[in-house]
Amino acid sequence: MRPRARRGPAAVAEIAATPPPGGSVSVGRHNRGRLLFGAPLRESEHLRLRQPGSAEHHGTDELVGLLARVSHDVAAAHPGARLTVGDLSGPRGGRLRPHRSHRNGRDADVGFFVTDAAGQPRAPEAFVAFRADGTSRRDPSLRFDDARNWTVVASLVGQADVPVQHVFVASGLRQRLLDHAARIGAPASLVERAALVMGQPRRGGRHDDHFHVRVYCAPDDRPRCEDEPPFHAWVPAPAPAERVAIRRSVARDRALRTRAARRARAARSARRSARPAADGPDRATPGG
Ligand SMILES: [Zn+2]
Repeated sequence: MRPRARRGPAAVAEIAATPPPGGSVSVGRHNRGRLLFGAPLRESEHLRLRQPGSAEHHGTDELVGLLARVSHDVAAAHPGARLTVGDLSGPRGGRLRPHRSHRNGRDADVGFFVTDAAGQPRAPEAFVAFRADGTSRRDPSLRFDDARNWTVVASLVGQADVPVQHVFVASGLRQRLLDHAARIGAPASLVERAALVMGQPRRGGRHDDHFHVRVYCAPDDRPRCEDEPPFHAWVPAPAPAERVAIRRSVARDRALRTRAARRARAARSARRSARPAADGPDRATPGG
């Protein structure tokens, strides 16, 4: 058989080792991708990590910057507020259980702000699930904090640099937030955007205990990063021809990875089958 051109592990390594001018690179789709040169999200006066010791706090530079900015906005509007952030992605992306997405640095789980029944801020250790009426089944003393949670959403959707595609949240809580926004007289354009960005996903959980935020691919991550619709009206969407190029590039990247993984597997099994012959059959470990 004619040997194929060397496009496998060498080509992949070359891609991965080249420092990109724009910093982090989100590769592939949200549910089938990885992250190169991801940035760690750090705790601050205004931002707390739900699991500070975990490595799953890596995102694109854009997402990490956005979360820091949101935490500042909330603290500016509500002094003392500290945003709680759960999982982003692993340092190099890839599968992150139990999530379907969170694979390439563009997804983040953000905890709800919570009060007690008297409206005083509370900071529970874990994410707390809320019903549409703002009460919690788990702890009857807790309430969904409409004001601070609306500020989170307003900050997420109200800026242009890092456009947010989705804020997944349970339908009843979405409505609470929109009602609150109308009550306080939030700008109509902001409320309209929030209504479009917030939604309960068809698959992947009700999101009644946290917001799941997904940002669009950064322009300098294209064509290696692929967004799926919707493209909101205020977002600079790639033109049809560029979308075709993106799809091709992502498919090529995936094919290279698959081939590299297959070769690595073959090399491992070749090493394994060579070992008993060298060591003698009595020294072979059962099960490899
Ligand atoms: Zn999530």
